Amino acid sequence: MLSSIIANYVPDDATRMLFPSQRSRVSLGTCPRCGKNVIENSKGFVCEDRGCGFAIWKASHFFTKKGLQPDAELITALLTGKPVRLRCHSDEKDKDYTAYVRLTDDGNKSELRMSFPRKKGRR
Ligand SMILES: [Zn+2]
Repeated sequence: MLSSIIANYVPDDATRMLFPSQRSRVSLGTCPRCGKNVIENSKGFVCEDRGCGFAIWKASHFFTKKGLQPDAELITALLTGKPVRLRCHSDEKDKDYTAYVRLTDDGNKSELRMSFPRKKGRR
C-alpha cells in the first residue's frame, strides 16, 4: 500500500511548501565569507557550503527587536555589503525610526552594523 503511494507520488505546490528543501535553490547573493551562493531555508539565509557556516537567521534578535522580518530582498541587499536603509520599529519606545544596516564579515563572524541618518539642520 505505502510503496504504491510513493511510486505514484508527484510533488505539487502544496507539498513543496511542506518540504522547503525541495524548493528551487535560488541564490540570493554572494557569501561574504567564501564567495559561494547564499540560499534561503526555513530558518534563515545560509551559505550553500555547510562547511563555511555563514548564516543570517530569520528569528535573529537583531531583526525581531526592530520589528523586522528579513526576506530574500533584504538579504540580497545586505549581501552587496552596502548600507541598506530600513524602517524599524521600537517596541520599547513604540516608535518607528529609520536606520542603515550594513553586513560585515571578518571570515569567522558576521556582524550587522547599524548607523543612523544624520538629521538635517541640526548640528
Ligand atoms: Zn560561504
